Formats: sequence, C-alpha cells, structure tokens
Amino acid sequence: MVSNGAVGILGGTFDPIHYGHLRLAEEMLELAKLRQIRFIPTGTPPHRGTPQVSAQHRSRMVQLAIADQPAFVLDEREVMRTTPCYTVDTLRELRAELGAAQPLCLLMGGDAFLQLHTWHEWEQLFELAHIVVGYRPGFTLEERIHTATPALRSHYQLRLCAADALSQQPAGGIAELAIPKLEISATLIRSRVAENCTIRYLLPNAVADYIHQHHLYEHANH
Ligand code: ATP
Repeated sequence: MVSNGAVGILGGTFDPIHYGHLRLAEEMLELAKLRQIRFIPTGTPPHRGTPQVSAQHRSRMVQLAIADQPAFVLDEREVMRTTPCYTVDTLRELRAELGAAQPLCLLMGGDAFLQLHTWHEWEQLFELAHIVVGYRPGFTLEERIHTATPALRSHYQLRLCAADALSQQPAGGIAELAIPKLEISATLIRSRVAENCTIRYLLPNAVADYIHQHHLYEHANH
C-alpha cells in the first residue's frame, strides 16, 4: 500500500468530548501533516474508573462533534467490546487492517507519555505506531523526561524525531509538538452540568444540546 500521509489515533473516554480534544486533534493534524485522525472512545478503560455515561452516548457525542471535519473519523471498535481492551490490541487490529506500510501515530499528552511504562505491553507500541506527544509551550517533555523510568527514557532518546519525518516510516518514532492546552476538561463539564451551570463554548453546541436532551451528567458522581 502506498501511503499518502500518516493516520492519527486519539483515544479517550470522551465523557464528554470537548474543545480541548478537538483543538488538540486539529493542531496535530496540521503540525504532523496527518491525513486522518481516528477518534476511538474507550469501552471499559483498564486505567481508570467507569465512564459516567454509556459508550453509546459517548460515541454519539464524538460523532456530533466531528461531523464538520472530514479528516476526523469516529472509530467504534473499542466501545463494541464487552471486555477491557488495551491500546496495543487496538493498534494490532488497525495495523492488520491498514497494512504494514501505513504510518500510524498514537496521539497523547506529555503526562500520559511519562506513564507509558505502566501500559500493557508498552514496548510493543513502538513496533506498531509512532507516538506523538503534545506538550504545553514552555513545559517541554525534554525538561521532564528525567522523571521517566530508565527504559522509557532510553526509548525517548533513541526514537526522538521531527514530526514531519513520521510519514516516512510506519512506526517507531517519537515526536513532540507544542500545543497550547485549553483549560477545559470533561470533569469540569460534568460538574458544571450537575451544578446547573452553562457549558456553552466549552464544547460544540450540538454536543451541549445532546447532553441536555438526554439529561446526561445531571447527578454528580465524580
Ligand atoms: P476527564 O476530565 O474525565 O479526566 P479529559 O477531559 O481529560 O477527561 P479524556 O477523554 O481522558 O478527557 O482525554 C483524551 C485525550 O485528550 C488525552 O490524551 C488527554 O490528554 C487529551 N486532552 C484532554 N483534555 C485536553 C485539553 N484541554 N487540551 C489538550 N488535550 C487534552
């Protein structure tokens, strides 16, 4: 298969999706010259508590949020599963579907990257995809990499490359991109809904309308 750009993968609970996620994806699309970003809502995340609303609602909100950006695609493979699933398994499936030559980029924040050694079969991730790390300008991964485990640090040192070189190889690189972080989180949105406060302009209107129509997040759980 001849590649015409890398495919980005953005996993998350998206409980709910908001402009923090969408700006992160939009900037990564541009800076890493990706041809597509797949939004993959988690089913039963191995790393954290159960999402507050069902996978179907979270998935539908992603679909509404990305409807007007043709390069963004909803990928429901994880929400269809009933057993916990790991990123490494999702990447194996994508690699099998898209072919050995297709560059794949797993997108994540700097905090997530520094915890990568806790992920299931984490060193296999480098065989399957590149890792693109978004960091806040002035808060670089390079400054914080000394807090990573020695094994993760040595992968970082060995694999660091420029974002625009990623499409030349299918997997194995680590690139960093400076991305201004919007001070928006799903936690903030859930608590504002529970307190009956406005969530307008924190997320797309279509998602805010969906939340209100389906009475999501009205009772504070966390
Ligand atoms: P919660 O508040 O429930 O923990 P969240 O808003 O952090 O959720 P997730 O679904 O856990 O959302 O995030 C998915 C991905 O998006 C993660 O890689 C996370 O680092 C990134 N992300 C979340 N919020 C922002 C933001 N405001 N700016 C940039 N990236 C973000």
